Amino acid sequence: MEVFDLAIIGAGPAGLSASVYASRYGISNVVIGGISGGLTTQTHEIGNWLGTEKISGFDFAQKAEAHAKSYNKAEIINTLIDEINEKDNNYVLSLSNGKKIQAKTILLAMGTKHRHLGVPGEKEFAGKGVSYCATCDGFFYRGKTVAVVGGNDSAAGAAVYLGDIAEKVYLIYRGEKLRCETFWGEAISKNPKIESVFMTNIKEIKGEQKVEELILDSPYKWL
Ligand SMILES: Cc1cc2nc3c(=O)[nH]c(=O)nc-3n(C[C@H](O)[C@H](O)[C@H](O)COP(=O)(O)OP(=O)(O)OC[C@H]3O[C@@H](n4cnc5c(N)ncnc54)[C@H](O)[C@@H]3O)c2cc1C
Repeated sequence: MEVFDLAIIGAGPAGLSASVYASRYGISNVVIGGISGGLTTQTHEIGNWLGTEKISGFDFAQKAEAHAKSYNKAEIINTLIDEINEKDNNYVLSLSNGKKIQAKTILLAMGTKHRHLGVPGEKEFAGKGVSYCATCDGFFYRGKTVAVVGGNDSAAGAAVYLGDIAEKVYLIYRGEKLRCETFWGEAISKNPKIESVFMTNIKEIKGEQKVEELILDSPYKWL
């Protein structure tokens, strides 16, 4: 079995960048990650990558993977890691696809996990109106009323994206004002379909078969 100098766990921007640097130093490496590009595949538009004004997350992910592969020093395997053991001073990685990989060193670049609201109804309605990726699931909200929770870049970007698809977008945020890039803030204020609801938390998500109603912890202004 080939022994790689380096196994990189995670094929997002961090893992693929690490692979590029390793290859440039002549370090043989294998990148193992569920999805190349990681979370960037969930964004409709990346606008802060210097030298490229606009690129879709999907295109960025493809380019990043191609860049990492271009040095012929890296292998990229899209699967997850089940187990890591030590053998003869090397690491043996058991992959979810049944394959085993040996490497002298390991670099962890597994990114982050979604944060959850932790309110009643969230788990029950996951996939039935509760979503964690606007670009993945935006299609289902075409012509509908949708609420985005949060006040940072991801939430603001999602609200702008959904503003082109949904009939109405409520951006519900516990803070007093958005903390996103001015770029997103301006896009929100230009779109009359997006309404920000500040100083408000969601207490419960209700419905029969799918999400129909949100219970807020403070009165909505029109009620
Ligand atoms: C909607 C949205 C929009 C965004 N827009 C922008 C933007 O415009 N500009 C910007 O700079 N940033 C943006 N971001 C943030 C950006 O996507 C993240 O900062 C970046 O992806 C983090 O990179 P990462 O490699 O650390 O982790 P991730 O991208 O999360 O990648 C983690 C990798 O690890 C893999 N992995 C996890 N667990 C395992 C395991 N057990 N075994 C094997 N592999 C595993 C995953 O499959 C994935 O390949 C956005 C994020 C979101 C959600």
